[in-house]
Amino acid sequence: MTPEPRKQTVTSFDADAIRREFPILSTEVHGKPLIYLDSAASSQKPQRVLDALSAAYSETYANVHRGLHFLSEASTDAYEAVRGKVASLINAHDPAEVVFTSGATMSLNLIAHCYGNTYLSEGDEVLITVAEHHANIVPWHLLGDRVGSRTVAAPVNEDGSFDLDVFKSHITERTKIIAIPHVSNVLGTVFPVREIAALAHENGAICVVDGCQGVTHMPVDVGELGCDFYVFSGHKLYGPSGIGICWGRSDIWAELPPFMGGGDMIDDVETDSSTYALPPHRFEAGTPAIAETIGLGAAIDFVQSIGMDALRDHEMDLLRYGHQRLAAVEGLNFIGQAVGKSGVISFTLDEVHPHDISTLIDQDGVAIRAGHHCAQPLMKFYGLSSTARASVAVYNQRSDFDKLAESLEKVNRIFKG
Ligand code: PMP
Repeated sequence: MTPEPRKQTVTSFDADAIRREFPILSTEVHGKPLIYLDSAASSQKPQRVLDALSAAYSETYANVHRGLHFLSEASTDAYEAVRGKVASLINAHDPAEVVFTSGATMSLNLIAHCYGNTYLSEGDEVLITVAEHHANIVPWHLLGDRVGSRTVAAPVNEDGSFDLDVFKSHITERTKIIAIPHVSNVLGTVFPVREIAALAHENGAICVVDGCQGVTHMPVDVGELGCDFYVFSGHKLYGPSGIGICWGRSDIWAELPPFMGGGDMIDDVETDSSTYALPPHRFEAGTPAIAETIGLGAAIDFVQSIGMDALRDHEMDLLRYGHQRLAAVEGLNFIGQAVGKSGVISFTLDEVHPHDISTLIDQDGVAIRAGHHCAQPLMKFYGLSSTARASVAVYNQRSDFDKLAESLEKVNRIFKG
């Protein structure tokens, strides 16, 4: 299999035209125009993804890899073509390195099972950071229950920035897996994946990257990053839910046993034994999320038509403006202020509980996230139970932050009189 050539976009960035592609963004909530600032949880979908989903069911639908009839072949072709699109997006050299899963959570569990069960044993260590999403923590705990390994977490600095020397001091001769976020879903910190992957390899470990909040906001080149696995979820990248990616190096995949057993992942089956298909199908048991995968393909076409550099520049401008606008709100404290941060702005508002903030501003049509963001260790690290979080996507505009700031001022007036 060969990847599609990496797409370079030369068209100029047209924020209004991009926004118009998202039907939900012209709807109202509580009689107010929707201001959607919760894309880190899940992004909205452009019309072309909705159309691709509909066409997958109304024009080419049949099960994949199974039939020799017209529709099965059309469905299989459309489905398999997405591997090439993913490979092009992250610059993987072979689409066969792209394994389809149900999401980043499944991808990380797959790695913990297939790699962890094979190569880790009693006393071995998985090194993570305190800034992980639970999806990059709990699978390693479950691995520990199976094989006796330990999960060790390195801290971040108070401002959310990352200190490579501190991280290094947590590596031991027992470290077998280093699993890090590309970008923290709470702090927005961009982790130096290239340096961490090099460090992992110098110490005989592999580097697993939770790219959920990375690939959505910036160009990714897995070869350049030098990591061994890179995972993400389609629903955060303008695609459907139920489809995720687990990219891994082909030499690593080649040596791993299957994750789940069933149809599609076999070579030959006897009643008392089976042999398995080559990667990627070895790791894809059962009927996959066919239409959702095709929808993800349309989402990748969407971001590539904009260009990941242009998308990043637009979002970085929004983030700078958002920080500036929110800094003027009385009593607002930012959680995570690392230089170059991406995607999210987490904050607290003096004595107002984040749940109250979110509920109150929802009345103004403003959607943000409030809670622990599936990052309880990080909340504990900061001595918090929750934060409020505004997150950006390519369809947001500066005025969304004007609206958020105005709405937060209203919350202040309600609580402070
Ligand atoms: N990692 C990070 C950094 C995330 O933000 C998320 C989703 N909030 C996940 C992992 C898990 O993704 P999913 O629930 O789509 O599997």
